[in-house]
Amino acid sequence: MSKPLVDQHGRVVRDLRLSVTPRCNYACFYCDPLREGAKEPVGTISVEDVDIILRAAVELGIESVRFTGGEPLLRKELPEMVRLAKRVYGIEDVAITTNASLLARRLPDLLDAGLDRINVSLDAAEADAFREATGGGTIEQVWEGIHAAEDAGLTPIKLNAVVVRGINDDQLVPLAELTRERPWHVRFIEYMHLNNAEPGAYQERFVSGAESRDRIETLLGPLEPVPTDPSAPARLYWAEGFQGALGFIDPVSNPFCGACSRMRVTSDARLRPCLLTDREYPMREGLDAADPLPAVIDAFLVAAHRKVASGITTPVTRDRTMVAIGG
Ligand code: SAM
Repeated sequence: MSKPLVDQHGRVVRDLRLSVTPRCNYACFYCDPLREGAKEPVGTISVEDVDIILRAAVELGIESVRFTGGEPLLRKELPEMVRLAKRVYGIEDVAITTNASLLARRLPDLLDAGLDRINVSLDAAEADAFREATGGGTIEQVWEGIHAAEDAGLTPIKLNAVVVRGINDDQLVPLAELTRERPWHVRFIEYMHLNNAEPGAYQERFVSGAESRDRIETLLGPLEPVPTDPSAPARLYWAEGFQGALGFIDPVSNPFCGACSRMRVTSDARLRPCLLTDREYPMREGLDAADPLPAVIDAFLVAAHRKVASGITTPVTRDRTMVAIGG
């Protein structure tokens, strides 16, 4: 029987985010990716590392694992990692966060490995705006991936957009419109200061969830709240007659740290208890030990104990940007 991993504030850690690469084939404004074509950086976690980390996580009662990055589909071993999580360790909920550009062709192997769910980052609904927002992405490839996931029954399809003034805030309504005919969840995320942007420039670009909601309501009519699990980060709404739902994730204007159940593993195998705080706890020595499981479990216990009550949402200099931490 596993015993739960409880932090010093009494929150149970149930969800693990595992960044499997800092590389990405997109260059979104709010992130800071290493470019595709670069070799996997030295220190990137291996399948063997993931195996041990998952074993430790299961011992500690982790119920859900999300593979992320960078772009996780750039790791050819991703299906093996998903298989370990789902088929070998029987983790209840195994998901990926992806830009979906490579999803259509990778999906069969991921489904075979037991993938339960996907979240797709989609910062614009129109082709030109999408290319601009992603630094050259082709939206048609992403639609192909989204439709393949929907056809495979990975529902509800969750599409996430980080709203940045002057970059994609003109896409609020086109993105919301996607839920008119489809039962998708389109979720708008507040831009967090994770990319070491100059503070004044960051504030100018920031759009609160309340402003996003107002701007959508002005054009689409009133949004009705949908009853939502209060511990879920997204507050859901629907527009009358629409098939899908709109979500607002407001980590800056309305932080949800009190309900945080997450722990992150960075792409170079460091445990990070809080996205918005720089503290990290290395696992490399433990992973390479002759008997790695107890050492890695210890690392989880130490990191959980040091999980802060709430993260820093104001602009501060960060040791690392999102791409290595894992979105
Ligand atoms: N490449 C994958 C993708 O596009 O979904 C996974 C990694 S990406 C870092 C995951 C997500 O992290 C982004 O789509 C975005 O939702 C979130 N993210 C990254 N930087 C962010 C920021 N500065 N503020 C808010 N969300 C951010």
